[in-house]
Amino acid sequence: MNILPDIKEKSKSFKAWRRQMHAMPELAYQEHMTADFIAEKLESFGIAIDRGMAETAVIGTLHGKSGPNGKAVALRADMDALAMDEKNGFDHKSCHDGKMHGCGHDGHSAMLLAAAEYLAENTDRFDGTIYFVFQPAEEGAAGAKRMVEEGFFDKYPCQAIYGMHNWPALPLGQMAIRPGPMTANSDRFDVVLTGKGGHAAFPHMNKDVIVAGSAIVNALQTIISRRVSANDKVVVTTSIFQAGSGAHNVMPNEAKLGGSVRTFGDQSREDVKNTIIDIVNHTAAAYGVEAKVDYHFGYPSVVNSPAETDVAIQAAKAVVGDENVDADYPHVMGAEDFAFFLQHSPGAYIALGQRNDDHQAQLHSPHYDFNDDATPIGASYWIKLAQLSLSS
Ligand SMILES: [Zn+2]
Ligand SMILES: [Zn+2]
Repeated sequence: MNILPDIKEKSKSFKAWRRQMHAMPELAYQEHMTADFIAEKLESFGIAIDRGMAETAVIGTLHGKSGPNGKAVALRADMDALAMDEKNGFDHKSCHDGKMHGCGHDGHSAMLLAAAEYLAENTDRFDGTIYFVFQPAEEGAAGAKRMVEEGFFDKYPCQAIYGMHNWPALPLGQMAIRPGPMTANSDRFDVVLTGKGGHAAFPHMNKDVIVAGSAIVNALQTIISRRVSANDKVVVTTSIFQAGSGAHNVMPNEAKLGGSVRTFGDQSREDVKNTIIDIVNHTAAAYGVEAKVDYHFGYPSVVNSPAETDVAIQAAKAVVGDENVDADYPHVMGAEDFAFFLQHSPGAYIALGQRNDDHQAQLHSPHYDFNDDATPIGASYWIKLAQLSLSS
């Protein structure tokens, strides 16, 4: 492992920053204390900051040896926590019931702060401009999309933008990436079935939304096996099925279904959407009930541009060694709003290993905690990446 000596030396203070942010988790667009903390740190490093984009974003701007001329690169961390209770018992556990840094965004912010401090102390070691982007609302509320809509790339023109996420599936000391699509499009559907409720002993006099709904759930499962090429990666999960009043002898009027759909590519996204709508409508009709389908496109796929992926791979190899970088990591069916930045700019998103004996929990688990030993690795990656990306 090739961690910069200055980074190694300061890793205790990075751990303290990370744990402080962990203890005060804040949800989407409410990251005020976290943003204050980050802004204060950046200013103490002598980095100029802007605030107010997408409510709570903090953006630091740092020029290298030849001033504001030349190339620019943006490095992005997310700041928000999740609406869940933490089940860890350690000292830095969440002080706020119902809020938890269950995805490690506290660690992402700490790693970018660590890199910012080093780069601010070593402006002679890069040429160009670095934007340190601390983004709100990654978890479901599309903070990245809002920043793009509020003119992020007009205010901070850059040749590339990079993102990083801690990865519990990967051992500490490893990193993984792939060129092209890395995460899936993440979409969802909601269905309301309306039939005719009545006495459970006389079903022929009613229109049964539960039997119709069950047929729909099963029919949706044939999309993958019969409608999608075996070469395409698609997930269709019905995760909501609500019906009935609780009375065993009453058939309900209405049932609600909902689910999550993961695809890669625009064509597959559109095809699966249309197939779901067709199956719901026609199956409902076959059972004599009415269906109303709402289909919502959520986060698009994170698509890494090839040239920037190569720069990311070089930076990762320089830090963790060639043998510890998987440059052809399998597609991830999860989603990430960094995709919105990559729809408007070249760039790449990388996974940073976090698993060891003490850090086995998955993201969004109530037992999850960011691995502080990953901070020096991630910070060194950011530094190397900024240098390589501005010099290439
Ligand atoms: Zn998450
Ligand atoms: Zn996350």
